[in-house]
Amino acid sequence: MKLLKFLIKCIVKKIKKLYNDVMFYHITTFGCQMNVHESEKLAGVLTARGFSQTENQEDADIIIFNTCAIREGAEDRAIGNVGSLKKLKKEFPNKIIAICGCMTQQKEVSERIYKIFPFVDIIFGTKNLEKFASFIDRIIEDKQKKEENKKKEKKQRVLEIEDRDLVCEDMPIFRTSGNNNWVNIIYGCNNFCTYCIVPYVRGRERSRKKEFILEEIRNIIKNSKEKQRITLLGQNVNSYGKDLYDNYSFNELLKDICAIEGDFELTFMTSHPKDISKEVIETIAREDKILKELHLPIQSGSNRILKLMNRRYTVENYLEKVDYLRKLVPDIRLTTDIIVGFPTETEEDFKATCDLVEKVKYAGIFAFMYSKRPNTPAEKMEDQVDQKIKNERVNYILNLQKKYNK
Ligand code: SF4
Repeated sequence: MKLLKFLIKCIVKKIKKLYNDVMFYHITTFGCQMNVHESEKLAGVLTARGFSQTENQEDADIIIFNTCAIREGAEDRAIGNVGSLKKLKKEFPNKIIAICGCMTQQKEVSERIYKIFPFVDIIFGTKNLEKFASFIDRIIEDKQKKEENKKKEKKQRVLEIEDRDLVCEDMPIFRTSGNNNWVNIIYGCNNFCTYCIVPYVRGRERSRKKEFILEEIRNIIKNSKEKQRITLLGQNVNSYGKDLYDNYSFNELLKDICAIEGDFELTFMTSHPKDISKEVIETIAREDKILKELHLPIQSGSNRILKLMNRRYTVENYLEKVDYLRKLVPDIRLTTDIIVGFPTETEEDFKATCDLVEKVKYAGIFAFMYSKRPNTPAEKMEDQVDQKIKNERVNYILNLQKKYNK
């Protein structure tokens, strides 16, 4: 029965293709909201070329994996997912398989994938996303030529990882998050937290020009009948504008967005605690359009660990900002990220983090076990914490948080 259903599905797709020339794509996205939004850009490129989205990899002419490198587990999952397509590609050799994202921006990882998965057609990184259309065209043209010549030549593959920091404005976007609209305001990060791979795979901070951001938001609002949510995206949104303007910061951008006419709500992520200013907190309090929620990643409640992490704030600086925020916005929904088991973290350091969680009473926390990332300073630190202890600590803190979750 299952086989029959599968065959019928294949035949229907084939007929559809013959008569309507419909081609399908399937994207699997790993990682953060930045990746979700970049997948919307890949979908935008494919939609502009006449492709439609499908829920099943089996039905797709193009299968894409948009990968994450923030933790080892995410990389392993992506590699496992790609590996499992070998059989499908053997059955349907015309399918195009592409891998992109933070994981493939690491040159050595891409070269390894290129070698171990010869059935993967396209590998590219975060820094040449705008070339995706040309990669697809190249592979499709190559396939067509080979079909015309009826020759068994070696198929073309793409492996392009570039190291450049661009801001690309002209990629189409196919929005997939309902009434929520992701809007990039800044790319990259200059902070170099010692555990984090982001500055290496996403480059230095580059803000988008305010005109482009405001225009994108105006268009979203103008073209929709229902109330929309705008979520501004950046690795560190509070750094917005520093690389472009002398007198125009994230705070000015928030105010300009709020001044746009129409029924919408505004939020943003992620804020670095060292960079969120009093002015931004005051704007959150004053502007009705800004949602009363803030994600402010503390990472650890121990000043010694924060220093080793190169976070450049202390628990005291952080709490000062939280107090000011709660004074101005008493009903703020505050959430955070916590890393347990950072190298050298003692029971005492961990207890300081637990105390902080009890003190701040977050509405939600995202707790992670520290995971070694290649070429970061923390990878080389001595006294890495035992995996069993990391497990215990992450479970403990998640349990502790349960009574405050909202
Ligand atoms: S602020 Fe730190 S944790 Fe966040 S992306 Fe930049 S380096 Fe990574």
